[in-house]
Amino acid sequence: MSAGAELAERWLMPTYRRPGVEFVRGEGARLWDSEGREYLDFLAGISVCSLGHCHPELTAALTTQANTLTHVSNLFHSAPAGELARDLSESSLGGRAFLCNSGTEANECAIKLARKHARLRGVEDPEIVVLEGGFHGRTMGSLSATPGLSQNPSFAPYLEGFRTVPRDDPAALEAAVGPRTAAIMLELIQGESGVHPVPGEVVGAAREACDRAGALLIVDEIQTGMGRTGTLWAHQGDPGVAPDVMTSAKALGGGLPVGACVATPACGEVLEPGDHGSTFAGGPLVATVARRALELTRDPGLLAGVASLGERLREELAAIPGVSEVRGRGLMIGVGLQEGREAPAVAADLLHRGLIVNAPAPDTLRLLPPLVIGEREAGAAVELIRAALA
Ligand SMILES: *Cc1c(COP(=O)(O)O)cnc(C)c1O
Repeated sequence: MSAGAELAERWLMPTYRRPGVEFVRGEGARLWDSEGREYLDFLAGISVCSLGHCHPELTAALTTQANTLTHVSNLFHSAPAGELARDLSESSLGGRAFLCNSGTEANECAIKLARKHARLRGVEDPEIVVLEGGFHGRTMGSLSATPGLSQNPSFAPYLEGFRTVPRDDPAALEAAVGPRTAAIMLELIQGESGVHPVPGEVVGAAREACDRAGALLIVDEIQTGMGRTGTLWAHQGDPGVAPDVMTSAKALGGGLPVGACVATPACGEVLEPGDHGSTFAGGPLVATVARRALELTRDPGLLAGVASLGERLREELAAIPGVSEVRGRGLMIGVGLQEGREAPAVAADLLHRGLIVNAPAPDTLRLLPPLVIGEREAGAAVELIRAALA
């Protein structure tokens, strides 16, 4: 066992089951382990390192800012937070942003905003509608909004006020929305459940039902955003939809921990002084790097490449014997395996062969490569998967 693995096994709370590999260095779409072995990283830190590992321009922004100012708290102004909020808002909903440190926190902010918005229009017992298979995070609010995790009795009681509907039933969604509804919260493509796109009719029904009820549509773009699906935000792709609130994290920080809850002008002033806060949020170091990551990701050439390379990659994966279906958009790809294939075992075998992917479901491999990969890397990954399934 490597030194890092030994320390982790002894000292970290055992909340993760990890393979024995210990990574020590990264560059672009490649990682190296403590034995000097090279890997092609098609998971990118779960869609965090979307511009690749140690992108020179992000590293330059990081080191310059680290030598200038890292933290001042939210009790004072510093320009990078406002610049990041402006760039985020201008790239999406046009209102204002609350900055935070992770995805789950971005969703906590959205939940608080939606509840207060409902209160302001006289709703006494607000309810948020969520979809089966959805994932919104691990803190108590976001966890309660995550149907697959909020049944675990170890952590009860969960937050009240969430109602779950199927992922693919527009009529059930419409029926669940009424005068109590504060919001519908959904991912356009569910990542953690194994890359399941939510049908366009369901998304359309969600927007209409929210308009009818005066409720907010919250789109969780933590995994689908930042160029992952070939448009900067998935709601700007096909099928498009106009959310009232959007949450981002993961790739937003270019590898650093940062999240954001972005709102339309109408929703951007619901939260007022004292309503919400965070010590670390929007600090100059992370805000500077995130702003640069957003700028690099917005490049139309990069986004067009994600769309076209993703399409080719999905076609080639679908033709591999042992693959039952390929889901997703852009470079957010779920590979369904035929019966009798165990995705966790295949992922372990692929790691051994030098390709990093994960298995979010027993029958699904998930590919979230850096958006900067080229055809050669995509081709190499296809061949490794073909070999593992042979
Ligand atoms: C990863 C993820 C989250 C949680 O983000 P954390 O930074 O781990 O808190 C929430 N929603 C979606 C869709 C995610 O993929």
